Amino acid sequence: MMDSYKLLLNGEWRDSKKKLIVTNPSDGQAFAQVATVDRNGVNRAIADAAVAFESWKATSALARGDYLRAIAAEMKSRAEQFATLITMENGKPLAQARGEVAMSIDHLLWFAEEGRRAYGRVVPPQAEGKRNLVIRQPVGVVGAIAPWNFPLVLAIRKIAPALAAGCTVILKPASATPLSACELARCIDAVGLPKSVFQLVAGSASEIGRELLENPFCRKISFTGSTEVGRSLIQGAAQTCTELSLELGGNAPVIVFDDADLDQAVEGILITKFRNNGQSCIAANRIYIQEGIYDRLVVTLSDRIKGLKVGDGLGDGVDVGPLIDERALSTATSFIDEAVEAGAQVLAGGSRFGEEGNFLAPTLLTEVPEHVRCHQQEIFAPIAALYRFQNEEQVLKTANDTEFGLAAYAFTTDLNRAFRVAETLEAGTVGINDPVPPTSNCPFGGFKQSGWGRELGSEGIDAYLETKHISIAGIT
Ligand code: NAP
Repeated sequence: MMDSYKLLLNGEWRDSKKKLIVTNPSDGQAFAQVATVDRNGVNRAIADAAVAFESWKATSALARGDYLRAIAAEMKSRAEQFATLITMENGKPLAQARGEVAMSIDHLLWFAEEGRRAYGRVVPPQAEGKRNLVIRQPVGVVGAIAPWNFPLVLAIRKIAPALAAGCTVILKPASATPLSACELARCIDAVGLPKSVFQLVAGSASEIGRELLENPFCRKISFTGSTEVGRSLIQGAAQTCTELSLELGGNAPVIVFDDADLDQAVEGILITKFRNNGQSCIAANRIYIQEGIYDRLVVTLSDRIKGLKVGDGLGDGVDVGPLIDERALSTATSFIDEAVEAGAQVLAGGSRFGEEGNFLAPTLLTEVPEHVRCHQQEIFAPIAALYRFQNEEQVLKTANDTEFGLAAYAFTTDLNRAFRVAETLEAGTVGINDPVPPTSNCPFGGFKQSGWGRELGSEGIDAYLETKHISIAGIT
């Protein structure tokens, strides 16, 4: 018997005949089902959210923060349940799922406070008798669309600032991973958030997306996912001028200089490449190693990669779980095959792992030519592709030679170089000797085709606020 989940709509738990079936990528077994809505259902949800907005925006930022803190506390009390669900729907190792839950809770606590700091300003007048005020007001109803790779935390990066700002939210999780969003909806219901301030929808992405885009009461869409779908939302918004925030794909370079601490660089590559089964938007995609350290690094890295434990994310000590689905696995093996045909060497892995589930053996490729897809495109799999470089100027040029600009990394012990490199790399986030830079209190987002706008930090709430100038004349 499969676990069944309902949708939270207008303060009620709604079921439907048509279900979304959720399978575990470790064994391919269906283990849960979720209710869905059609386009009419989304239309009603937007209408209800628009009504709820009138009172939610008038609630004090302090009181809204109290709700966020209560949701965080409720999530903390169910943390292990959340982590298990994330691992079962997404496949990532349980320890990493626990980290995702902890980060989600921290985001809620951060934005519970940021709502109170959505300051405006008083501007000195240019004309006699005038007074100028700048105030910030919530945008209105927000559609939040989340991907499957971090199903909980990337939804929270939208929901928390939107609620803190005074917006009402309709969340659409990815169809592959809707369960942590359902559990989140249960937490939100349990703390008594007023009805329709938060609603959960699931179903056909194109139908839901179209209604969010075309319904004039939906004032904003915040989307995290592929650049391809991001572009289609931009095309739709060109007709309606719906405001968009976009967190899109990446192609992160990692640069290891001769002066790097070898162990720190190897550890950093392992984390930024293999975390989340290689399916992170900020994952190392192109790993450039300077020639003086190349041979030593390859030996150490290859040994460490061969030692990674592959398996069901719920298993003890597992480092790398399955890819999200069969299609992702076959894309990954085709990337490897193409690179090998073009002359790359396979020093670890290189093929499917086991008979069951969507596992790829953690792979190390060296001598990869730059024209192949694993250099040009986002790999989104546990494949480390290494490139040799001679000097700083040349590698920075190559690192920036991509339409993406989400994250970039460098390993060096030279402080002058660290600043030079960090300031030259075209990316929204640069980690110097740091493989996991994102944190609640700093902005996250992309340059170029990696996105529009920023999440987290004090900037994270901006996406959900309109700025209004009030001019008062005739003051004596
Ligand atoms: P995706 O296919 O673009 O899907 C993302 C979300 O958009 C899902 O909820 C999906 O729903 C929905 N969607 C699909 N088509 C849509 C449409 N026409 N209108 C509205 N919504 C639509 O991306 P993904 O494969 O889940 O995620 C992987 C990508 O996300 C990678 O490129 C990764 O780099 C990027 N990403 C970026 C960030 C960042 O912060 N910049 C973070 C994580 C991931 P269904 O699941 O129902 O199709």
